[in-house]
Amino acid sequence: MTQEKVKTHNLIAVPKLDSRGSAAGSESGTDECRICFGTGMEIVPGKGARICVCRKRDTHLDLHSQARLPKRYEKCHFNTYYPGNNQSQKAALNLARSFVDNFPAVDNGVLFSGSVGVGKTHLAVSMLKGLTERGFSCLFYEFGTLLKEIQDSYNPNTFSSELSVLAPVLNADVLVLDELGSSKPTDWVRDTMAHIINNRYNEKKFTIFTTNYLDERTDPREETLEDRIGVRARSRIFEMCQTVVIHGEDHRRKLHKASMIGKLTN
Ligand code: ADP
Repeated sequence: MTQEKVKTHNLIAVPKLDSRGSAAGSESGTDECRICFGTGMEIVPGKGARICVCRKRDTHLDLHSQARLPKRYEKCHFNTYYPGNNQSQKAALNLARSFVDNFPAVDNGVLFSGSVGVGKTHLAVSMLKGLTERGFSCLFYEFGTLLKEIQDSYNPNTFSSELSVLAPVLNADVLVLDELGSSKPTDWVRDTMAHIINNRYNEKKFTIFTTNYLDERTDPREETLEDRIGVRARSRIFEMCQTVVIHGEDHRRKLHKASMIGKLTN
């Protein structure tokens, strides 16, 4: 007699349904998801199973908190960026949106350059928010803060910095390095920056930079981006990124002026 193999399935306990077909207890303040009852899978009758929306929401929240987005830019989104009639701001907003929509099918990262307060960080943060919503791992670092964290984690005995700081910077799908060139360009700063940039470049990871330094000198006393970060790093960023120059007035100053006028006319 052939012995039949008995198929076993792991069963997961699900709450009892009440008379209306809802999970008992789901309205009594318990946190259990009413769709998947905490299993993470939603059963679609007649079709199969799929990841429950609650897990997608949790993943998005995790990615969002891991991205270290600055609190100051909490309200920054594409739809709170108002370019008005400014052509360079309109173009920057369009490019930022299309990067998010098409990622990872994009050719290059982005270098936003322009004077203070034209919305470079606002756009970079909005991009990271859009990308985390789409499930990509992102990381935001102000350049000076990153250098400080690397420096603080340096172990003189092993001549190396903690991987806990560097690994996420090297591995994030998309990294924003805000205020590139803001730190005094010592040899150590240049070497550290070159290490990060080269690593991400070799691994084909995308990086979004913002900088207040331009490529062209408009005044002989002004420093260019190349002066701040060195010829090699600038050249590498040319390869890695599309440069987007944003012109305009300092938005903070504009708001301040408007509020002063408001106070005078009231
Ligand atoms: P940058 O990085 O170019 O120095 P920020 O992105 O930090 O400028 O912008 C400074 C402030 O002005 C932020 O609060 C930002 O949200 C706001 N801001 C700048 N440009 C715009 C704009 N076009 N529409 C709405 N807010 C803007």
